[in-house]
Amino acid sequence: MIRVVFVAASLLFLILAWIAGPDHRFSDVLYLLSYGFGGWFGLLSALRSLAAKDIDIDLLMILAALGAAWIGAPAEGALLLFLFSLSNVLQEYAIGRTHRAIESLAKLKPASARKLANGSEPIHCPLEEIHVGDQIRVLPGDLIPLDGHVVSGDSSVDESSVTGESIPVNKTSGAKVFAGSLNKNGSLTVQVERESADSTLARMISLVEHAREQKAQTQRMLEDFEKHYAAGVIVFTLLLIAVIPRLYGVSFNEGFYRAITVMVVASPCALIISTPASILSAIARGARCGILFKGGIPLERGARIRAIAFDKTGTLTQGRVKLQQIITYHPDRSEAEILGLAASIESHSEHPLAKAIVQEARARGLTLPALESFESTPGRGVTAKLEGRKHWVGRSSWLKDIGVFIDPDKSDELRSLQDDGFTAIGVAESTPDGSTRLLAWIALSDSVRPDAAETLRQLRQSGIHEIAMLTGDNERVARRIASELGIDTWHAALLPEDKVQLIRDLSKRSDIAMVGDGTNDAPALASANLGIAMGAAGSDVALESADIVLMASDLNKLPLALNICRATRRIVLQNLSFALGIIAIMVVLTLTLPIWGIEVPLPIGVVAHEGGTVLVCLNGLRLLVGWHK
Ligand code: ADP
Ligand code: MG
Repeated sequence: MIRVVFVAASLLFLILAWIAGPDHRFSDVLYLLSYGFGGWFGLLSALRSLAAKDIDIDLLMILAALGAAWIGAPAEGALLLFLFSLSNVLQEYAIGRTHRAIESLAKLKPASARKLANGSEPIHCPLEEIHVGDQIRVLPGDLIPLDGHVVSGDSSVDESSVTGESIPVNKTSGAKVFAGSLNKNGSLTVQVERESADSTLARMISLVEHAREQKAQTQRMLEDFEKHYAAGVIVFTLLLIAVIPRLYGVSFNEGFYRAITVMVVASPCALIISTPASILSAIARGARCGILFKGGIPLERGARIRAIAFDKTGTLTQGRVKLQQIITYHPDRSEAEILGLAASIESHSEHPLAKAIVQEARARGLTLPALESFESTPGRGVTAKLEGRKHWVGRSSWLKDIGVFIDPDKSDELRSLQDDGFTAIGVAESTPDGSTRLLAWIALSDSVRPDAAETLRQLRQSGIHEIAMLTGDNERVARRIASELGIDTWHAALLPEDKVQLIRDLSKRSDIAMVGDGTNDAPALASANLGIAMGAAGSDVALESADIVLMASDLNKLPLALNICRATRRIVLQNLSFALGIIAIMVVLTLTLPIWGIEVPLPIGVVAHEGGTVLVCLNGLRLLVGWHK
């Protein structure tokens, strides 16, 4: 705000000085005041840079204005400082808009919640005092304060702030809700699943904040370049001061004036702001649509992607797996007993298959025995100790590796389940005599996301020429889904490390993005040129490893995400060439027009320079408002 006042004061004194005319006795004082207000912040910044042995644009402007005053053109100098400070304020406003778009996320975090304690009336509690497992009441019109699932109640919830999805979603018992979404019409009782600091919203805010700090490569290059360039401009100006009078046969003062004009039009303001103005807009725009770009680098990389590899479960499929069939092999144990045991182990896993098993056990009202230990092996299965024995739930190849004996009959039954299109996993236990035996096959199925085919079509249309599917599931299921979606490159029965290897191989041909959701995908996400995680529903490790997160786990946001990347590159290039173009044209005009007797006035140089800077910022803002088609 103070800056705006200074800009206004600078203009006011400039006008007063101009009205008073050069012969008025206060004229010098008025110009001095105008210089003071217009140049104050620039001077501070120039001194700060000088203290760090850097030369910046502010210094160039201050020098130019002082030079103008020295040769008796204080009006031009004051105008320069006024326009320079005005354009800085406008730039700050433009960039501030993107900051505000992100800060509005933080406002979505209420400070307290209504905690339900033992059936009594809910009490207001600070969020920090609410822990996993507590139940809270969310009334109509409330922001949902914490991540969790609905225990009772029925309401429609506007999740647009978290997921970018504008249509309210109906939530009933069992549905997940996210902190920061708005409860519209009903009252909900929610069981808390994450502490306030780990909520999806909190993670999103911290990710976006980090994103802003992570500079794009172009931006870093430009900042290095600024220092050398600014020094170069000063040297060039001194050189011009020396040679212009001789070259053009003009007086020292005239030559000096022309040199200062060159110094102003050659300053790289527009060049420096061109990239951050665009990148910040793109990040803010992404955050509005439920796409999280972790900084400028993902945006730059996203624009180069020509191939995409997809994980299957939870990414191309809905991840809403259903248990279809159980074949048991234990003579004394019932199906219910084996399912209960498997569910008890899987209740500690975040895998979509695991969730389906737990869900089925709950639906059948089974009690789950308590575990003594638990271990997850991503992409293979889970191990646990219960009732004094080791148990395994996972893929058949993994069980074989562990030494579980699977006789040919059981292998045949497994194959026939897979032929029916099911994902089948085995349950095994160790026996008192030290061997292991297979207890059951559990067959599960998952359906393809309804929008997957359309998304793939859009991606192909936008220039992605290779689409591959990488899955840890068996070959038969993979083939069925690949043919359903028209994917010609697919690889099945992969372990997490195989996915990494395939990504490396594929990335030799073209820049590749990996899209995945699970813990098992995290290494592949990290090794692809660009990692894209399926957001809120995905595992935490996947979110950490990815460069871009699709918050709503909406596959159909993927084309938009890549689109924003490409638009950002386009706008950055436009800005860079525009900024360089203005510099080149103005420098050439300032130095050549005098040959034909036309002097470029300093004010025109200043307007071209500052106008260019503001235009570049506005061009970047197009990304924020979505006018970049
Ligand atoms: P995808 O690549 O399709 O996402 P994963 O790599 O996560 O699949 O898993 C590959 C296979 O490993 C699964 O098809 C399943 O057989 C087995 N598996 C992985 N995690 C689990 C688990 N928690 N419980 C049972 N089986 C699992
Ligand atoms: Mg997966």
